[in-house]
Amino acid sequence: MKKLTYLFVVMLMSSISVDAQVTMAVPKNYAIVVHGGAGGIRKGQLTAEEEQAYKAALEKAIAAGEEILKSGGKAVDAVEKAITVLEDDTLFNAGKGAVFAANEKHELDASIMNGADLNAGAVAGVTTIKNPILAARAVMDKSQHVMFGGKGAEDFAEKNGCEIVENEYFSTKTNKARLEKAKKNEGKKSGLNKDWQSDKYGTVGAVAIDLEGNMAAGTSTGGMVNKKHGRIGDSPLIGSGTYADNISGAVSCTGWGEYFIRLGMAKAICDRMELQALKADEAARTMIHDKLAPMGATGGVIVIDRYGNMAIDFNTAGMFRAWASSNGKRGVAMYGKDDK
Ligand code: ASP
Repeated sequence: MKKLTYLFVVMLMSSISVDAQVTMAVPKNYAIVVHGGAGGIRKGQLTAEEEQAYKAALEKAIAAGEEILKSGGKAVDAVEKAITVLEDDTLFNAGKGAVFAANEKHELDASIMNGADLNAGAVAGVTTIKNPILAARAVMDKSQHVMFGGKGAEDFAEKNGCEIVENEYFSTKTNKARLEKAKKNEGKKSGLNKDWQSDKYGTVGAVAIDLEGNMAAGTSTGGMVNKKHGRIGDSPLIGSGTYADNISGAVSCTGWGEYFIRLGMAKAICDRMELQALKADEAARTMIHDKLAPMGATGGVIVIDRYGNMAIDFNTAGMFRAWASSNGKRGVAMYGKDDK
């Protein structure tokens, strides 16, 4: 009899703990955060129309991603969709609207990662793929590799149905002027072009958690104004510009890529969430303010942890950003942290 009672108690306990684990693993809440770059974005710098245009673009991207999450779709699809919307908008330094490299051409980078299986895809230094994030997704889904560069990436993308365009497709007058200014200031300061720091970055990215608790992250960029031909930044590097893992969280970065690469920024934030049990905001804060800033570099990150907490942090004047979640938190902002 005693033995039977013991068995019953053990069975009960194991079923409780299994249920508890299931409840913990499936938050049943979705959340999505997007960014359109960090940098010297200050009040009074943009006209009311420009401000409105940025807000509308960010809202459009969030709405496109949210629609997928709301109907039970996957985080990775929401991230891809939100980034495609921003790539197609000339306001941002990704896809159409990408900045010029020093050779007066556009060289684009993008990456995407699925936190459910750690699958990832990236393209770097591509010049003719209309939506680099779709090419990164094709690399993730349709190849055994993680990253393709240059011509090989373009051939792969074309074979896998991505739209191909002329390099001029990405050009805008604003970016031509930005290149000219950067060239004029070149060499005025030693080392890397310090003008980058005061300029706005404009890379785009998204992170999401879906109703199943799966997470994803993606980033797409034209890189940095006046970069040397062939220079690759952090955005297409899994672990630097982008990272997602269901057991920690999802991160997309924007900023001075050379420093984000050296810090392994996105993975470092995920490690803090996983190994030190930091929440999204704490993990983001320590990496931006205790690690990146002391190196003399600037930028920002968007983060969602595995519990669905959203965080945005940066050490620039502003950052284009928007967020939404199933528990009613939503917003769009571009200036300092009090802009909510
Ligand atoms: N991180 C990007 C790069 O270094 C630039 C950006 O965020 O705008 O290529």
